[in-house]
Amino acid sequence: MDVQENVLLGPLTTLRVGGPARYFVEARNEDDVREALKFARERTLPLFVLGGGSNLVVLDSGWPGLVLKVTIRGFNHRHGHEVAYFDAGAGEDWDGFVAATVAHHCVGIECLSGIPGSVGGTPVQNVGAYGQEVSQTIEAVNAIEVATLESREFDNADCRFNYRTSIFNTSERGKYVIVRVSYALKHGVAPRLEYADLKKHFAGWSEAPSPAQVREAVRKIRASKGMLIVPGDEDCRSAGSFFKNPVVSEAQFADVVKRAAAKNLEVPSYPALERLHKLSAAWLVERSGFAKGYGIGQVGISRKHALAIVNRGGASAAEVLALKDQIQGRVEEIWGIRLEPEPVVVGVG
Ligand SMILES: Cc1cc2nc3c(=O)[nH]c(=O)nc-3n(C[C@H](O)[C@H](O)[C@H](O)COP(=O)(O)OP(=O)(O)OC[C@H]3O[C@@H](n4cnc5c(N)ncnc54)[C@H](O)[C@@H]3O)c2cc1C
Repeated sequence: MDVQENVLLGPLTTLRVGGPARYFVEARNEDDVREALKFARERTLPLFVLGGGSNLVVLDSGWPGLVLKVTIRGFNHRHGHEVAYFDAGAGEDWDGFVAATVAHHCVGIECLSGIPGSVGGTPVQNVGAYGQEVSQTIEAVNAIEVATLESREFDNADCRFNYRTSIFNTSERGKYVIVRVSYALKHGVAPRLEYADLKKHFAGWSEAPSPAQVREAVRKIRASKGMLIVPGDEDCRSAGSFFKNPVVSEAQFADVVKRAAAKNLEVPSYPALERLHKLSAAWLVERSGFAKGYGIGQVGISRKHALAIVNRGGASAAEVLALKDQIQGRVEEIWGIRLEPEPVVVGVG
């Protein structure tokens, strides 16, 4: 095991802010994970498990303990009757893995194309986009328990998936290192298009698109919104959407409608939001004085997406979090809704 010291974490994240890890280890297999966990335990070091770093804000003071980056690679698949099972190492690049599944004509995660990060990161916040969530296809999550170093297998129900949550970022947060994830995908069926942008893209097609064609369409749509990482494009130097769509009660929804009417505005409502009693966080942000392209110092809001806080170059975590606070405060003042951040803040602040 190669233990490095004082490794800067900013460059290992998509937002590119944050200080160093006191200790840093890359785990290429399960033995490495166990060795690293022992190293942290013997020195009573706080542990942080790093995947692709695409959902993080690392504080400027960095991480005082051990950062364990999971780079376990490889995947295999077997085809059953109409179902194909894919078992992937947690350190596999997610988008590369999605590309491999569509190359096998499999359906189930093609709408999640272009999401950055690792396979192991996907169950943590039940990654979702364009009408799909990994909770719909995850068969099992294999992990190593931090306290005992024992292997555990969680089936789909064990993970208690919900909107951007699972046991791994709620009740069992920090207790497991995910090492493999298995997905049950369909083959021999056409992809289902649920999202308006996708339906529009394929309007007029006489035949159902293939999974590979859906993947390409999703990547194109994501690129137009700065939600595909394009090297050099500062509008995607972000942690993706910074706020979750708030899930509200009927009374809260009615209150927002009333506040909007007083401003001659109409609250947007479309099936995906209605079904889950969600409000559009992007709409709330934009109607609180934060237009796309808003900037303050080295941080700002993406020119292509109202929910992405971006690092325009050389920003600090403190600046990112100050803009987050400013947005949360204004939205709450105007709309009575407290927005909840999506990225994980790493460090002791
Ligand atoms: C441009 C952009 C677009 C995005 N679009 C979307 C989107 O459409 N939908 C969406 O849901 N998300 C989106 N995201 C957020 C992010 O890509 C996902 O949440 C991704 O799954 C995070 O994976 P990661 O490997 O980068 O995890 P990291 O950011 O490294 O870590 C995130 C959390 O998962 C934990 N974790 C990671 N790996 C493991 C492991 N092996 N074992 C235990 N815990 C682990 C970490 O400890 C941390 O708590 C986007 C981000 C960006 C930058």
